[in-house]
Amino acid sequence: MADVFHRPTGWRILAERRVFEMTWDDAQVSEYAWEPFRRACPCAYCAGEGAYKGNVSADTTFTEKQTELKEVYAVGRYGLTPEWDDGHDTGIYTFKMLRRAAGLE
Ligand SMILES: [Zn+2]
Repeated sequence: MADVFHRPTGWRILAERRVFEMTWDDAQVSEYAWEPFRRACPCAYCAGEGAYKGNVSADTTFTEKQTELKEVYAVGRYGLTPEWDDGHDTGIYTFKMLRRAAGLE
């Protein structure tokens, strides 16, 4: 079976539930709770790069601002970048990674 590349048809921030919701081109809907979503930030500062360890681990305690999702921007045709309330906006989450995190093919 071919590796089908799915794209979202839309997404929205559900502030009352502190959840980020994505709707996909195969009609699947996935939800990401803000805190684990921030913890999974793949940027070099958070996740590290090469020998550099990064500043975020499973034990990191976040401030409220750090897990407050303000806005989400499209990055090219392959991913998105969340902007957090502390100004952090360097993480690029690919659609592939988001599908996988939601347990979708
Ligand atoms: Zn980051």
